[in-house]
Amino acid sequence: MVEEQIVKRHIKDERVIDAMSKIQRELFVPPHLKNSSYDDSPLLIGGGQTISQPYIVARMTELLRPDEHSVVLEIGTGSGYQAAVLSLIAKRIFTIERILELKRSAEERFKALKISNVFVMSGDGTIGLSQYAPFDRIIVTAAGPEIPKNLLDQLKDNGIIVMPVGTEAEQVLLRGEKKEGKIEIEEHDRCRFVPLLGKYGFSDNGV
Ligand code: SAM
Repeated sequence: MVEEQIVKRHIKDERVIDAMSKIQRELFVPPHLKNSSYDDSPLLIGGGQTISQPYIVARMTELLRPDEHSVVLEIGTGSGYQAAVLSLIAKRIFTIERILELKRSAEERFKALKISNVFVMSGDGTIGLSQYAPFDRIIVTAAGPEIPKNLLDQLKDNGIIVMPVGTEAEQVLLRGEKKEGKIEIEEHDRCRFVPLLGKYGFSDNGV
């Protein structure tokens, strides 16, 4: 998977390649999809949600540029795979999931894998996690109409945020870097994520 889908598609960051070689994606997918674990696609993980395509995980991690000193906030724990990859690169990861069942299974996976620097919260990640802010890095793994202001406020100066932004049908990966209080945005790959639902995301229709 790493050679064919990641290295051949020009992901160059050795820390990303190394982390993705070590974390087994098959441990983050439902048992009936084990045979598809290393496919070049997102997979359903329950609750209508997905574990992202491996290339997208690699690309977002590369754009985020975390290092061993980084405290990271992730919105959208899902299966926990992205957070597990980050756990091998960054110092500490706080990850928020709105679906309680997904939060619980991700926590069980981290426990079984003895990953101790990932902390899972439940709730609406669009409002951020002010009690642990500011963060060196913020990664949003669901698509929103814009980057929530709360998240920008909770990013440190010289910090980086990566998030898919657009309509519910298609988005562009944005990478924002905070410089002297202002965000400089770059546009990267086109992509398609499940929606970020919540106060500063798409409407959740009361679900
Ligand atoms: N990072 C995940 C992984 O490695 O498996 C994939 C994330 S999946 C594409 C998007 C996740 O975002 C879903 O689990 C969804 O429930 C969650 N989500 C959507 N809106 C959210 C919100 N406002 N706060 C927290 N989680 C949210």
